[in-house]
Amino acid sequence: MNQSNMTSMTGDNYAVTQVGAWEQLDRFSYEVPTAKGKMTVAGKVFLGQHLGLTSCETSLNSLPPNQGIPFYHKHQQNEEMYVVLRGQGEFQVDGDVITVTEGSVLRIAPAGERTLRNTSATEALVWLVVQAPAGQYPSLESEIADGVGVRKRVNWPT
Ligand code: ZN
Repeated sequence: MNQSNMTSMTGDNYAVTQVGAWEQLDRFSYEVPTAKGKMTVAGKVFLGQHLGLTSCETSLNSLPPNQGIPFYHKHQQNEEMYVVLRGQGEFQVDGDVITVTEGSVLRIAPAGERTLRNTSATEALVWLVVQAPAGQYPSLESEIADGVGVRKRVNWPT
């Protein structure tokens, strides 16, 4: 499925998109520019353009059983957070191998040389990646202080 073929909905201050069930992520694909041309990565969908994200990029990813990403990559300025949603796998960063499963959450600094593989013989490995420029939040307090309450009683329109 083409990345622009998703159901989306927007309001003044929100956007919603529907990517479907995790086991159907393999219907998406993404073309990565390489030195030799383009390489198609199956099971990957970037959400930024669908949601109109302006400060981070987010992707949902899936690898079939016993398959791995056949290359390392790193970033120039973005840090990445990986959230494993389903399956069993191994993450490799700068030669360190980390066993991951549902609920594993990793932060990788821009310079970390990373790759990932699915170690299950039967189940897809599914994960979310959020990337954003490193060093934007000087402290946890500044992030939390950005949220402010709205003085309004909660009401659910029926
Ligand atoms: Zn990356």
